[in-house]
Amino acid sequence: MKKYIIGNWKMNLNVHEASLFATKLSQGLPIRRDVETVVCPSFVALQPLSLQVDHRQMKLGAQDCYWRDSGAFTGEVAATQLRGLAQYVLVGHSERRHIFGEHDRDIRFKVQAALRNGLTPVLCVGETELERKEGDTAHVLEDQIVSGLMNVGSDQIDQVLVTYEPLWTISTSGSPHVPQQHELEQVVKIIRSKVTHMFGREAGKAIPVLYGGSVDKDNARIFLSVEGIDGALVGAKSLIAPEFISIVEIASEIAKEEKK
Ligand code: PEP
Repeated sequence: MKKYIIGNWKMNLNVHEASLFATKLSQGLPIRRDVETVVCPSFVALQPLSLQVDHRQMKLGAQDCYWRDSGAFTGEVAATQLRGLAQYVLVGHSERRHIFGEHDRDIRFKVQAALRNGLTPVLCVGETELERKEGDTAHVLEDQIVSGLMNVGSDQIDQVLVTYEPLWTISTSGSPHVPQQHELEQVVKIIRSKVTHMFGREAGKAIPVLYGGSVDKDNARIFLSVEGIDGALVGAKSLIAPEFISIVEIASEIAKEEKK
């Protein structure tokens, strides 16, 4: 199965820097069929990069979108405005949920807005450190999946990606640690079985599930080898060209090994 490596540049790089960085990436990223490489720059860099990048090498994603298609929503960017600029959009990233107070309802509407506008939503789910300690991981994930995908049609679920990104693993949220392989395996099962419950066995098996949280070139192989994990969402290390390129290479190696 194809792997997905998504780089989340967050609120870094101005337009000029983003363009230089994309050039650097393109020099080290061969065109691959087995890995879908996506970078998510800030909104302002999306338009110039949409003209610059070779989409066979990397696709573009937005870091968020608003769910209304137009109107008096100062400061927001609608999914309609991303059409033609991005192919993917992150929805419900933990920083959106926890810093900007996004609720499950906003996230559900954003998933729908993305689909309505031909974008692939990457629904991010994950528990906090406290929820984990209290043994609530499964409940939290199930709620986030049900709520985020509630209004997705059975003919649309094949256009959705899910990323498991527990808050306690994200490199910018204090002192991160990463899940053990068996923990990740368990979580993937929870996510897939919820999708199965909602959309059937085929969908539960096929939906791409990614892992995000302190992924780097040294641990990528471990995460990408976990059964049921189809890719990675990479934050800090997506801003270091050789690291990001190495992660894409590792994903490609694993995709090839799985094909054998
Ligand atoms: C992220 O926040 O999307 C992320 C994965 O960050 P990092 O890789 O820096 O932990």
